[in-house]
Amino acid sequence: MKLELNHHITIPKLSQLILADESRLFLMQTIQNPGSITFLFVGPEGSGKKTAAFAMIRSLFCQTPHEVSPCRICQQVLNKVHPDMVWVENEEGKNKLTVEQVRGLQKKISVLPLTADFHVVVIPEAELLNLEAQNALLKTLEEPPANTITILISKQTGSLLPTVLSRCRMVRFRPYTVAELKKILMTHWNWNESEAQQAASQCNGNLLSALQFSDSRWDDFSTKVVADFDRSLSSHAALFIACIHEYEQWEPDILEISGVTPTQRKSRVFQTALQVYSRIWERRLRGEESIPASLDLLAPIFVLECLQQHIDLLETYLSPRMIIDHFFITLRNGFQTGYLEKKSLFDWVAQL
Ligand SMILES: [Zn+2]
Repeated sequence: MKLELNHHITIPKLSQLILADESRLFLMQTIQNPGSITFLFVGPEGSGKKTAAFAMIRSLFCQTPHEVSPCRICQQVLNKVHPDMVWVENEEGKNKLTVEQVRGLQKKISVLPLTADFHVVVIPEAELLNLEAQNALLKTLEEPPANTITILISKQTGSLLPTVLSRCRMVRFRPYTVAELKKILMTHWNWNESEAQQAASQCNGNLLSALQFSDSRWDDFSTKVVADFDRSLSSHAALFIACIHEYEQWEPDILEISGVTPTQRKSRVFQTALQVYSRIWERRLRGEESIPASLDLLAPIFVLECLQQHIDLLETYLSPRMIIDHFFITLRNGFQTGYLEKKSLFDWVAQL
């Protein structure tokens, strides 16, 4: 299953969005009389940025705003086929948004909207715009065609040019609280209360992680990760080397991984596996799960610290294979000796 928001049964109304009050009010006021405007939604993964974009488009396009289930127009929006909406994603196998894609969107918005009063442009991973593409986009942001609403979405602002940032109205998103996530899963995704509570309490405010819990293959994956890692950490090095190799080759059809380079894909697979393993150790720390006898020498808090450190390292330019090697060696030594040697990855590499 590809986890996409078009599994949404409803698109929330702007007034129902779970957002800081001032951000929600700002969006509602702006949309009353929009003209041409560029928004930049910034926040961590799974914090509701795309949902908010869909809610804004709904409030502009929908013809049955009081109905709960999506109308034909909203369905087109969700399937990203509405003629007046331009959704710019990276193409298969590419890891950047290119200047050609920006020119393509500029061409689409240079003519009058076909059915709605507005054009809406959404760039859901704006951090992927390369410099040339950003410079080309700048022309549109500086002199937008009439009635064009642009929504840039990004996890951070670091890779966006100051000139682009200065043209945007920024709306910040934060991770959801457990209570908020539970409410979203129950109201917008029709989950029952106990499922929603369980998923919400285990995914650090990330809606996308919570949604993965609904896939039974996700359960299989998590169970496998925990079993593989527990076993590899308590026995021979050969086992974890086999384990690394297997995850490296693994074709993750339950993860939303497309349009990335092989190295990025590897990083994401490892990162997801470490996140899964980290969640089981959080539960072990709280006493909700028992710790296998072979792994009881090391305090869970140190295990979690080590996991987080390597999850963060997987965000860097370092080789994922090397990071995961380091992870297994560090933790395995820890489980055998009862303490973690604080040797950084860089010292370790220098020794090789
Ligand atoms: Zn509608």
